[in-house]
Amino acid sequence: RNHTATHLLHEALREVLGSHVEQKGSLVSPDNLRFDFAHFQKVSNEELRMVEQKVNAAIRANIPLDEHRHTPIAEAKAMGAMALFGEKYGEEVRVIRFGSSAELCGGTHVQATGEIGAFRIVAESSIAAGIRRIEAITGEGADDQYFSMQDELRNIRALFNNSPQLTAAIEKLVSEHQEAQKKLEALMAERTLALKQSLLQKARTNNGIKLVVFEGEATPDAIKQIAFQLRGEQPEGLAFIAGSLDNGKPLLTVAFSDDLVAKGLNAGQLVREAAKAIQGGGGGQPHFATAGGKHVSGLKEAVNQLVASIG
Ligand SMILES: [Zn+2]
Repeated sequence: RNHTATHLLHEALREVLGSHVEQKGSLVSPDNLRFDFAHFQKVSNEELRMVEQKVNAAIRANIPLDEHRHTPIAEAKAMGAMALFGEKYGEEVRVIRFGSSAELCGGTHVQATGEIGAFRIVAESSIAAGIRRIEAITGEGADDQYFSMQDELRNIRALFNNSPQLTAAIEKLVSEHQEAQKKLEALMAERTLALKQSLLQKARTNNGIKLVVFEGEATPDAIKQIAFQLRGEQPEGLAFIAGSLDNGKPLLTVAFSDDLVAKGLNAGQLVREAAKAIQGGGGGQPHFATAGGKHVSGLKEAVNQLVASIG
């Protein structure tokens, strides 16, 4: 059955894409078929649909098999039969015709195209330079594919309260989601800013070093943002120390302005040392470093140790 379907597909492809379409290989199984052919660009959805329509029209026309055995090769060519490039043929060949399709072929075919039942293209792809592959299903396989698509569409529609305008409903959801995402990001940025400002108010300055300390619940991302914003705003004499908790996980963060790094302070070294109090480890660069751990009740001690080491 699918052998015949490849003949109809070949013919339809030549009608839709042009006579340069030449079969480069095919694989036929009871459930599906694969057809490789020469063509230099992607076959568009519109072209694929035209091919599908032509093949299905040929199936519905129930064209009978017209088989010519022991035909001299010259006569076969005169009949317009397509030969496979690179294939060796004897003096006498078999010509298989279904309406306008004529091929030299030794395979088994249906008695009439109606036996194919239905034809659906399921994939079109490139397999090598200038070679495209079409995968298709026929008969009951086409029904099964239709049923599974129908089930999926029903399920999606149910998720959208059986909206009659499914595409519009999905577009609305996507844009609402993007809006919500933007608002959430703006809120988080506001919260981070407010936290940073309250920390700055509590900051003390000692020996020309402004020490900003945070202890409490915060996401690693918010702490990192605060560290880098402070470094940007206070290019000199800034030390930032944070002992934060996120979902019960303790995190130490240390950041210095570049002038303090030049004077010998090293965030990576200090954080590694202090992380022992939270049974953790980490590191980073001299100007920014973090360490995670698992001993929450050691967080206070770790922060005190860091504060003391800066003086
Ligand atoms: Zn054939």
